[in-house]
Amino acid sequence: MALPLPTSLSPSKVSTFKDCALAFRFSAIDKLPEPTSLPAVKGTTVHRALELLLLEAPQRRTPERAQQLLSMAVDEIRATDEYLSLEVTDDEALAFASDAAVMVERYFTLEDPRRVAPIGLELMLSTELGATTVRGIIDRLELDADGGFVVTDYKTGRAPSERQEQSRLGGVHFYAFLCERVLGTRPSRIQLMYLGAQPQVISVVPTARSTQGLERRLGAIWTAVEKACENEDFRPKPSALCNWCSFKAYCPAFGGDPSAARIELPTTSEPVGDHAAVAG
Ligand code: SF4
Repeated sequence: MALPLPTSLSPSKVSTFKDCALAFRFSAIDKLPEPTSLPAVKGTTVHRALELLLLEAPQRRTPERAQQLLSMAVDEIRATDEYLSLEVTDDEALAFASDAAVMVERYFTLEDPRRVAPIGLELMLSTELGATTVRGIIDRLELDADGGFVVTDYKTGRAPSERQEQSRLGGVHFYAFLCERVLGTRPSRIQLMYLGAQPQVISVVPTARSTQGLERRLGAIWTAVEKACENEDFRPKPSALCNWCSFKAYCPAFGGDPSAARIELPTTSEPVGDHAAVAG
């Protein structure tokens, strides 16, 4: 019997499928829960603080106001089940707030938010591609001086090495494709803004060729997903990422039994979060 197809593809799902088909099946098809982590929750908090900052009038977007908004974001997150499930100690809670404050400070070393003209924050875009829906959440969409779209994706993990840069830009082209499809305009620039140690901005100018290439790759990935569902054939692909995999105990590459996961872990209807990746 064929497995049900996942309902959509997002940048995180595509990345999971490319990294390990079995982890994709556990997450996107079996919908097994994936415990959160303190770095992931910290990332969510910093994203929220920067969203609140850009909702302020430009002249109010100061470092002091940003820290006030971060405190609000920290209070918000501390009331969530996600945060409470982590059973954070007092020391961890202090380190959490202090690390988040440093990231917000670093943000001001990368740009002056008073000059940013956002037209969309935490913007969900989705479009049909063949038999599936492709969706993604854009952290920030703004207009540049010439009226072109600029997409910004905040990253709270470590900036990539030069060697890793190209692979990290895959998600960027995903957003360019969504903008072109949904909003009818290809962005003039897409930027990854790294707020971890050694903060930096990596920018790319998408082209017709790059978005068409992304569309072709998404089509090929969807075909591979359909085939794997039809044949119930999602194989493990061990790598360094296994150290962070929520399903390692059930992975046959490590002596586990995948069917036990589906018995022991309740399923969830929650979508795979696009901001959940620790290293962004
Ligand atoms: S432990 Fe590694 S190989 Fe196994 S499912 Fe997770 S990522 Fe894949």
